[in-house]
Amino acid sequence: MTDTTPQEPLKLQCPTCKKDILWTDDYPFRPFCSDRCRLIDLGEWASEGHRIPGKPAGFNPEEDLPE
Ligand SMILES: [Zn+2]
Repeated sequence: MTDTTPQEPLKLQCPTCKKDILWTDDYPFRPFCSDRCRLIDLGEWASEGHRIPGKPAGFNPEEDLPE
C-alpha cells in the first residue's frame, strides 16, 4: 500500500475562541474545541434563520409509504 498517513495531526484554531486544537479524535467537535464553542457558532448562523438540515429523529420514510 502507498497510503501516506500524516505523522502529525492537522493543527487549527477554534473559530469561536481561537484556541489551538488538533484534528484528532481528541476533539470530536472540531473545528471547534468544544461543544460549547460549536453551539455558539451555530447560534450565530441560526439567528439568520431556523432551517436545520436533516430529518427529525426517528423519521422513517418507509413507514409513510402507502401500500
Ligand atoms: Zn473554542
